[in-house]
Amino acid sequence: MNPSLSIGDRIESIRQTLREGVRLVAVSKFHSSEAIVEAYEAGHRLFGESRVQELVAKQEELSGICLDLNWHFIGPLQTNKVKYIAPFVQMIESVDSLRLLEEINKQALKCQRRIPVLLEVHIAEEDSKSGFAPDELHDVIEHIYRHHEEYEGVRLSGLMAMASYTEDRGQIEREFELVAQLFEQIKHGGSLVEPEAFCELSMGMSGDYDLAMAHGATLVRIGSAIFGDRDNKEL
Ligand SMILES: *Cc1c(COP(=O)(O)O)cnc(C)c1O
Repeated sequence: MNPSLSIGDRIESIRQTLREGVRLVAVSKFHSSEAIVEAYEAGHRLFGESRVQELVAKQEELSGICLDLNWHFIGPLQTNKVKYIAPFVQMIESVDSLRLLEEINKQALKCQRRIPVLLEVHIAEEDSKSGFAPDELHDVIEHIYRHHEEYEGVRLSGLMAMASYTEDRGQIEREFELVAQLFEQIKHGGSLVEPEAFCELSMGMSGDYDLAMAHGATLVRIGSAIFGDRDNKEL
């Protein structure tokens, strides 16, 4: 992060590095609503948060001020908390179990919504990271396909992944490439009711989004390069 630039300038300089068709999710977790307003006033509209309580508080604070601000939920999501974000969230990128998908579907239908979702793929070395293993992913897609009339509350919009926490850029690239291959297999594999809706590949963060874009990312999730370091580095 360049500390001499404003939030708006940092977003602008990142924007200039984005490939065509790639959208920037500004990850504002642990940062203040003021920082979000600053980004919003600089013209940015798409933000990512990873904790329900924090997202709901920010939504309440900002919904009257930042009228067309869009939220993507990107963190671990407990089923009992889906109901708090279902009324307004624009996409849930971190669906890591069928049970969670079912709950999102149920809560979306209650709000008469259809929520775009991404299935999270586990590619990193760390066990701490969540998501479907690649072979599990095919089973889940198949399951949804066979029971699609029960999933009217969600729109299967693509995949999300986080690479390993490593300095080894070659390894990160191999992981992104694996996700890109899975994405293509699924998109063209005949097990999607709406293959045209399956169009998002969310991968890449501050340190590796260049590699993610080289492997076909359509959404990059960038936090610290925009907002600076977070006090709590856990998430
Ligand atoms: C925090 C977070 C990001 C952003 O990470 P930075 O390194 O700060 O850019 C991206 N994706 C997820 C899922 C996150 O939790």
